Amino acid sequence: MSYLRLAVTDRCNLRCSYCMPAEGIAYLPEKKLLTWDEMLRIVQVLHPMGIQKVRITGGEPFVRNGLMDFLTELSRLKDLEICLTTNGVLLESNIQKLANLGIKSINLSLDALDRDRFFQITRRDDYDTVYQNLLRLIEANFQVKINAVVMQGKNEQDILALTNFAKDHPVSVRFIEEMPFNGSGQLEPVLHWNHRRILSEIQQAYPAILAMPGKLGETATNYQIPGFQGDVGIIAAFTRNFCGSCNRVRVTALGQVKTCLYDDGVFDLKEFMRSGVRDEEIAETFLRLFAHRPLNGFEAEKNRKGVIQESMTTIGG
Ligand code: SAM
Ligand code: SF4
Repeated sequence: MSYLRLAVTDRCNLRCSYCMPAEGIAYLPEKKLLTWDEMLRIVQVLHPMGIQKVRITGGEPFVRNGLMDFLTELSRLKDLEICLTTNGVLLESNIQKLANLGIKSINLSLDALDRDRFFQITRRDDYDTVYQNLLRLIEANFQVKINAVVMQGKNEQDILALTNFAKDHPVSVRFIEEMPFNGSGQLEPVLHWNHRRILSEIQQAYPAILAMPGKLGETATNYQIPGFQGDVGIIAAFTRNFCGSCNRVRVTALGQVKTCLYDDGVFDLKEFMRSGVRDEEIAETFLRLFAHRPLNGFEAEKNRKGVIQESMTTIGG
């Protein structure tokens, strides 16, 4: 395990249909969320145990007050790579500060390169802001990955539009299979756009597309297209073909540890920490949880107490 994904809030300023119902979810009161100090402590315990990279996610990380101070504290830890996943709405005033903290890599979620489709998917009219902030990130030399969930009848045309964006810009566009974490508990019976169909769509336009060698722990299969400044990746998040090399541990906004995206939380770390335990006990607990990880996402889903009901906004993706 070398990669921690930390969801710092369950709140969000968008309402992406694959993540939340239109009316949102019942947000937790602040005291039920991990505090910034508790999150810092978790990272401080895990870092010497081999966690080399932490991704700040949510919810939308920038809607929680205190994010930049937290990132400043994290940036003091030696040899820790800090990455962020954001919807990009509140980025503008923070781009320079992020660069000053030494943060280099940002994943920006953008499912459509079109104002109307963006609105249909996110239920908010923020396309122009997000697009401009994407250009600002590129201009400021961040390593930018664009995350796009592919959905039947909503953004199929954006597969090629986003692919073409990578032709003219040095970004990685990653197409993600839709997962059933939309907060309504309703599962789509069929995954219309699986990783093979997404690839075939791109291949038809760019037959010379070439798979790049995989990196350990990488969930995306990445591809190069001759003449492109950027590249494209496909994440088989629902098909789950990458579980064997998974190096991730998640801590949700509620302080639940997840050793697989598909489990329903394997340990209540928040209550454990609030019972006054020592750092060594937290470290031992993580080791025990790591040793009992399910074989893959299918086993994790089978071990759940009930069907998937939760929203990705509490998990962090
Ligand atoms: N709010 C930030 C954002 O949207 O980038 C960070 C949190 S969001 C939950 C993290 C990632 O999860 C996003 O890239 C989003 O597209 C992805 N995601 C959310 N729900 C999903 C779903 N049902 N299936 C696949 N990916 C999903
Ligand atoms: Fe918010 Fe991100 Fe979920 Fe969209 S995917 S509703 S931006 S948390």
